[in-house]
Amino acid sequence: MEQAKNLKEKLFRKKQNGWEMNIDINQIQNFARNYISFLNKAKTERECVKEFKKILEENNFQDIKEKENFKAGDKIYYINRHKNIYAAVIGSDDLKNGFNIIGSHIDSPRLDLKPNPLYESEDLALFKTHYYGGIKKYQWVNIPLSMHGVIVTKDKKIEINIGEKDDEPIFTIADLLPHLSKQQDKKKLEEAISGEDLNILVGSIPYETDEEISEKVKLNILNILNQKYGIVERDFVSSEIEFTPAMKAKSLGFDQSLVAGYGQDDRVCAYTSLKALLNINNPKRTAICLLADKEEIGSMGNTGMSSRSFEYFLSEILNKTIGNKPGLLDEIFQNTKVLSADVTGAYNPNYPNIYEKNNESYIGHGISVIKYTGSASKGGASDANAEYVGYIRNLFEKNNIAYQNSEMGKIGIGGGGTIAYILADKGTDVIDCGIPVISMHSPYEITSKFDIYNAYKAYEVFYKDE
Ligand code: MN
Ligand code: MN
Repeated sequence: MEQAKNLKEKLFRKKQNGWEMNIDINQIQNFARNYISFLNKAKTERECVKEFKKILEENNFQDIKEKENFKAGDKIYYINRHKNIYAAVIGSDDLKNGFNIIGSHIDSPRLDLKPNPLYESEDLALFKTHYYGGIKKYQWVNIPLSMHGVIVTKDKKIEINIGEKDDEPIFTIADLLPHLSKQQDKKKLEEAISGEDLNILVGSIPYETDEEISEKVKLNILNILNQKYGIVERDFVSSEIEFTPAMKAKSLGFDQSLVAGYGQDDRVCAYTSLKALLNINNPKRTAICLLADKEEIGSMGNTGMSSRSFEYFLSEILNKTIGNKPGLLDEIFQNTKVLSADVTGAYNPNYPNIYEKNNESYIGHGISVIKYTGSASKGGASDANAEYVGYIRNLFEKNNIAYQNSEMGKIGIGGGGTIAYILADKGTDVIDCGIPVISMHSPYEITSKFDIYNAYKAYEVFYKDE
């Protein structure tokens, strides 16, 4: 009896709930409190960059443009077009031996305004939107929305943030009432609300005048915006306005073990990997935190992971330390280790049949290490080498980091990707390693506070590893 029990103990892989490990709950709750307050301040990539810049500067990181030379131990950052950041702590080792990089993304699914958004319909004013990233559209109607972004006029740039403070108005998309939705109810879920149905209600009072003119409600809205911001209708063409859920991120559950909040894909990995970098002093290998934009729409664009802006940042590090030369960056990439820190879909108890239970991520069970993403045939995955997976698991086991190895859902049920393959293309060793999320891409995503704190520790040991 005992012999078999001991043998099983020795040979089986145990599934372990992180809350049952030897942990400090106060530490976990404190970390989560700061994370929740960050989520409430940073609902767009631009707002994330602002918050992170403040945190980096408070921790003695310098803009890479400010100095001509850097030495081991120096802390630097670079902000690319207000929308993505690279931060580094220079190592003491010969830089050609490679870097330790953690890469995440700070853009999240949302509703962007079209270039000509404002129109009037039967005395109501609305905005036309164009959704950004993979959303289930029915989730975005009849929830409070807030407005964020910038408008560039002839002579200035105006920053907008409306709907987050208690005394500010919110906006919403009006769905059809159940009494009249017999036809809509019969449609497939993905067709019931179309992209062109995602029109945001923004006002209803007509401009006060005795003159016979049309579109008085639209005129009144434009007049309010003109008085407040000095803009005219044409200025929307040079704007980036994003509507996000206005709900506050909060603790979830009687035991307050979870976080519910918008934009946790992938700001939960961005926040934990940046906070971990703040603990790195005088490392042997150069530690880099990379926060990309545009992941949710394919990583293209000059602030996305495919942009050569990242190579520019690394070249600047070389220029200002050991000096650059042709081929040096390629050699460094060959010796570089990367964690692609992106969230993954966690097991959702409402849909047990979607999952292959031996190979899923479970909320509260630690960081998910994902050898390959993609769909069906592993299509589109960079697929980490066994040697590199071995290195990561040993690192985590040595440092008591809770980790799980998973895929996402049964084969053929769906799939997804991250920035991993783009970094693999450069010649680095890279593996996906992020926090499991329930209801990913929804207006109210759910994570575990244990996983958040555990990921923060995991990222710290990775940066520090020699
Ligand atoms: Mn993501
Ligand atoms: Mn995503």
